[in-house]
Amino acid sequence: MLSAAANPARHFYCNSRVAVLLPLPLAGAYDYRVGADPVAEGDVVEVPLAGRTSLGVVWGPGTSATDQAKLRTILRRLPAKPLPEALCRFVDWVAAYTLAPPGAVLKMAISVPAALEPASPIWAVRALAVPDGLKLTEARRRVLAAAAAHPPLTMADLAREAGTGDSVVKGLVEAGALEKVALAPPAPFAPPQAHRDGPALSESQAQAAASLAEIAGFHVWLLDGVTGSGKTEVYFEAVAAALKRGRQVLVLLPEIALSAQWLGRFRSRFGVEPAVWHSELSDAKRRATWRAVADGTASVVVGARSALFLPFPDLGLIVVDEEHDGAFKQEDGVCYHARDMAVVRARIGACPVILASATPSLETLANVQAGRYLRLHLPDRHAGAVLPDIGVIDLRRTPPPRGFWLAPPLVAAIERTLAEGEQAMLFLNRRGYAPLTLCRKCGHRLQCPHCTAWLVEHRQAGRLICHHCGHATRLPPVCPECEAEDSFAACGPGIERIAEEATHRFPGARVAMMASDTVAGPHAAAEFVRQVADHEIDLLVGTQIVAKGYHFPMLTLVGVVDADLGLEGGDLRAGERTFQLLSQVAGRAGRAERPGRVLLQTFQPDHPVMRALVAGDRDSFIAAEAECRRDAGMPPFARLAALVVSGPDAGAVDDYARRLARAAPHTEGLEVIGPAPAPMAILRGRHRRRFLIKAARTVALQAALKEWLAACPAKQPLRVQVDIDPYSFV
Ligand code: ADP
Ligand code: ZN
Repeated sequence: MLSAAANPARHFYCNSRVAVLLPLPLAGAYDYRVGADPVAEGDVVEVPLAGRTSLGVVWGPGTSATDQAKLRTILRRLPAKPLPEALCRFVDWVAAYTLAPPGAVLKMAISVPAALEPASPIWAVRALAVPDGLKLTEARRRVLAAAAAHPPLTMADLAREAGTGDSVVKGLVEAGALEKVALAPPAPFAPPQAHRDGPALSESQAQAAASLAEIAGFHVWLLDGVTGSGKTEVYFEAVAAALKRGRQVLVLLPEIALSAQWLGRFRSRFGVEPAVWHSELSDAKRRATWRAVADGTASVVVGARSALFLPFPDLGLIVVDEEHDGAFKQEDGVCYHARDMAVVRARIGACPVILASATPSLETLANVQAGRYLRLHLPDRHAGAVLPDIGVIDLRRTPPPRGFWLAPPLVAAIERTLAEGEQAMLFLNRRGYAPLTLCRKCGHRLQCPHCTAWLVEHRQAGRLICHHCGHATRLPPVCPECEAEDSFAACGPGIERIAEEATHRFPGARVAMMASDTVAGPHAAAEFVRQVADHEIDLLVGTQIVAKGYHFPMLTLVGVVDADLGLEGGDLRAGERTFQLLSQVAGRAGRAERPGRVLLQTFQPDHPVMRALVAGDRDSFIAAEAECRRDAGMPPFARLAALVVSGPDAGAVDDYARRLARAAPHTEGLEVIGPAPAPMAILRGRHRRRFLIKAARTVALQAALKEWLAACPAKQPLRVQVDIDPYSFV
């Protein structure tokens, strides 16, 4: 073993065996023999695998007992920088916690294979001595003069500079008067200007910012402040402090693709755009960003949860904004919660992490109470703006007319708002026109052929769509059950139906919809948000994506069409989540000089969630909710895991689930509930049975599950999905 002078912590291996982790769902790393070139931990290599080749990462010394002679040899080391040690440890940690195969986690860390190869050069040209006998036209003279006066330019730039066409430049290259040279690609991200002044902070903001800016080692902060209190401005100070120390910063946002306003604020604070990381980046951008993170030229990355797996060599701060948001939980493949894993990543990297929210999760509040996390509080909206006044509309007493969804008091409030020249927003967390279509003659309901779910009518698109698998179809000409014609009735509203009603009720108003399927991509979303901010829209109808942190100064009224919607289904966090979502929606109202008002349409005005919202009493609500969870032995006071067994054949799934049940662990403090059909009993054509495992915080849950599953391996096409700390109970 040699050690490298540049990085004494890295172990180099030559003439020996090493463990190479492959980005595949295998049980662990495989041993390979080191070839002529020594390799070190974290190096990305190419190795032979079952008649093909695969990328892999050198994970440590070899561990198997296989004969050295039988080992395959590493083919080559890729020119990419080795994965930082902190990232490798993070991959191991996430795999151990989620029970995902380590290779499946590694796959997220090397998600851009093209970024591991050398960057393709950009070709430029520079002037050589003019060859004898070259015919010099006026255009050629100008090109040669321009080439002599500049560092190498691309052919197109040089032609532009000289005011000629590309063909003149090409001709000079062929004649040997210009030479092609490869340029290194430019650093794609300009450094943020950490020394620029931010806005003058209020006293409580300044105190919070000072606490955050001071800390360098591992600490978890909860930045707890009402909507509009300036949490973003405050954590920008911590970002500036980390940048001044020369470190990198990661900011996780729940809907980064829709966060144009956030990017604008970053630009006005730091003078440049940060690097952005989400699933809708182009390949070229993705490659450039991955490399820039690895070589440290991207100093601030704002991203979705997958940004946690970027190869930061020197991460100095992580911010998780809207930390309570369910979008941080990944539900398929490797099931992980990005907020919790951000804390792990920060601990491994010995850097602080800031969790920001106006409605922190019970998990985070429990950690504050236990003294593990530190809380900073911003009690008031900035610049004297007051929190909106929240009231309920009791749908039992003042229902909307038949076939409509907006109750008279809400209609009246919207009319007043529009008459004042202000904006209103109607919120309903349901896409499409109607969630259910049924036959008026026989009662038949149109269902997805692959899932236990109704088809949702999307009238604008002329389709019925399954929101679980994406199956789309047209409305059938006759009822498939009784063959009646023209018998379908749309039941219940989605936002398309609310927008239709609003257009009809408020004929002079400019009405627009915003949902994930009505705005196509980040640019369309940014343009839409600009239109609302510039008051080109009077009445906005939207799903939860309109709740995400936007600041619309003229928006003074928020109407929640169905405040009870999230309370159905009895899932563990239904109350907490509804409270968080409605608080966040309410937080869009009255953010500037004009005070805001929020009206919640509900059949349950006495429900604890509605009472807490009306009274503005988050803390008592959370305390009561926490009490219930403690009594029920539920998270955050105990741990939960879900196992979902699935397969195409219901009988085989049941058989396997029963076998699994017989092998269930009998451990003190651990309770196995099930198997039972999952609420979504069929999803994408697979039958699903679910176990819930409840464990005291003292039980080694992962070890117990691992042993259990190892005793009863699932054979294809059966699958077991493990979800530690599940959030979705479908
Ligand atoms: P939060 O993230 O808590 O909802 P924001 O950081 O978005 O709050 O702040 C709400 C609004 O108030 C934003 O437009 C922000 O620019 C403005 N703001 C907050 N603090 C200040 C400050 N100290 N000076 C000037 N503007 C501020
Ligand atoms: Zn479906």
